[in-house]
Amino acid sequence: MAERIGVYICHCGTNIAGTVNVDELTEFANGLDGVVVAQNYHYMCSDPGQALIKDDIKEHDLTRVVVASCSPLMHEPTFRRACAEAGLNAYLFQMANIREHASWVTEDHGKATLKAKRLVAAAIRRVQHHEPLEPMEVPVNPNALVVGAGITGIEAALKLADAGKKVYLVEREPSIGGQMSKFDKTFPTLDCAACILTPKMVSVGQHENIELLTYSEVEEVSGYVGNFKVRIKHKPRQVDLQKCTGCGICWEQCLGMRIPSKRTIRKGDLVINKA
Ligand SMILES: Cc1cc2nc3c(=O)[nH]c(=O)nc-3n(C[C@H](O)[C@H](O)[C@H](O)COP(=O)(O)OP(=O)(O)OC[C@H]3O[C@@H](n4cnc5c(N)ncnc54)[C@H](O)[C@@H]3O)c2cc1C
Ligand code: SF4
Ligand code: SF4
Repeated sequence: MAERIGVYICHCGTNIAGTVNVDELTEFANGLDGVVVAQNYHYMCSDPGQALIKDDIKEHDLTRVVVASCSPLMHEPTFRRACAEAGLNAYLFQMANIREHASWVTEDHGKATLKAKRLVAAAIRRVQHHEPLEPMEVPVNPNALVVGAGITGIEAALKLADAGKKVYLVEREPSIGGQMSKFDKTFPTLDCAACILTPKMVSVGQHENIELLTYSEVEEVSGYVGNFKVRIKHKPRQVDLQKCTGCGICWEQCLGMRIPSKRTIRKGDLVINKA
């Protein structure tokens, strides 16, 4: 069965009509295969604009709708809803962006109108291949994985955890904080880096929604949005984190370790500062 297509061209005030010749475009659309009705209107997304489409769907028994206006990011849901309200499956609709892709990118009326014609013709060809779709609901795992526990990862993890999500925060180093933990002051405000960072590090460690996996790396990610499976390699550190105070003595005693920064080590009662 041949499709019965309605085409609606928006002026967007002078945003489109100031550059694209909307009457010429409407006449052009009217002559294309499958087009039963083509109209232009000042503001297609307005209630009267949507009513125009809805009335035509019923009056002309339309099976497909094309709106030539702005970015689908702005009004695709608006027009899909209008189609559905008139009894047409919402996905039998196609939008052509003749504003951002034509009228806003040139002041040349002829070129803008020509480009708009091509976009509208393409949308009309495309919409004929659309199939009716039904949205479905699938269970989604709302847990989040944050990789890297520098200030960015810490902040992201805290925001997600405060919003009630379970967060796995993976850090490949034995300790969190990233670069910022090495600064004294931060540019440009010269705020004390530790004063900003350490309360957040503590919050991350204590937050009931955050599972902190330090000395760990993501090995494999599989699955899809809402249902990812992640394998994490947790390197052994031979330390009970609940009991460790971070005094550092084990590092000093370990012959395999080289700690470049200046530190204090203990030998019996003797305290020596070493570079
Ligand atoms: C010397 C220096 C001075 C700076 N001074 C300033 C300043 O004064 N003001 C300012 O605003 N910015 C400054 N910056 C920039 C600042 O460091 C960064 O903007 C900020 O710290 C970056 O934070 P981040 O969390 O994005 O990254 P990072 O602090 O780099 O943290 C990334 C974390 O991810 C971990 N990680 C990386 N890969 C993986 C992986 N595959 N798996 C698990 N964990 C991983 C790392 O170990 C690290 O802990 C400076 C940077 C440097 C290097
Ligand atoms: S549908 Fe888009 S282009 Fe038309 S008036 Fe509304 S915002 Fe402007
Ligand atoms: S020696 Fe200190 S840093 Fe090392 S595991 Fe024991 S408490 Fe932690």
